[in-house]
Amino acid sequence: LVRIEGLHKSYGHLDVLKGIDLNVQQGQKISLIGPSGSGKTTLLRCINYLEEPTRGSIYIDNELIGQRQVGTRKVPMGDKDLARMRAEIGMVFQRFNLFPHLSVLENIILGPLKVQQRDRAEAIEQAEDLLKKVGMLAKRDAYPDQLSGGQQQRIAIARALAMRPKLMLFDEATSALDPELVGEVLAVMRKLAEEGMTMIIVTHEMRFAESVSDQVIFMADGNIVEQGPPQQIFRDSQVERTRAFICAVK
Ligand code: ATP
Repeated sequence: LVRIEGLHKSYGHLDVLKGIDLNVQQGQKISLIGPSGSGKTTLLRCINYLEEPTRGSIYIDNELIGQRQVGTRKVPMGDKDLARMRAEIGMVFQRFNLFPHLSVLENIILGPLKVQQRDRAEAIEQAEDLLKKVGMLAKRDAYPDQLSGGQQQRIAIARALAMRPKLMLFDEATSALDPELVGEVLAVMRKLAEEGMTMIIVTHEMRFAESVSDQVIFMADGNIVEQGPPQQIFRDSQVERTRAFICAVK
């Protein structure tokens, strides 16, 4: 579903990603772990083209994201194509960036109505199903500032799902939450994983990463240091750098 080849990203002289190669199959759950500043967030942001790669290619369903191949040249994708591709990728950020002036329901149906031109009644019906799924139907008409951080984050997940994405990206979705609210968001993410959603998850929740992922990627200094099943990364790593990190965060 996702194929990343030789991805580099630099900000001026700072090389943040130094040649990332990664394949994600449909239905896979991949966790990205690693020290602060290792490039995890930048990698996610390149996948949905919030950041433009300096070099390398990212394909979603064999379609090059952000660029079009014209003969031997690559030219930037038009806004319309970019919006269409972005709609296929849901992203949940650390800060729940819901629109404060819109109700919970309005937040969820906005994308389906404005970006996908879907029917209002159908969008509302789907939004209510999604609210049920994240346990928030009772808050359908509430405004974001009337909700706890955990509730807002569950709405942010429902809003991303409303676009019927092929792939969900989570960027430290629980890092900004009070500890007692982390569990309810992880429970929603776990349910989504069990339903077969393809997910790439940047997280500091090591136990969650271990239990939910098919593959774990340890990144440091803009490189993938090690990739493998959770058991390998968390318990049997033969790579000194991985072991030191796991030891420090456990
Ligand atoms: P964290 O766990 O702290 O979020 P991370 O692994 O996600 O870390 P990134 O956020 O991808 O790391 O950042 C990697 C490096 O890139 C950092 O040194 C950061 O300061 C730098 N960086 C990120 N975005 C920009 C930007 N827009 N301009 C300049 N430097 C940036």
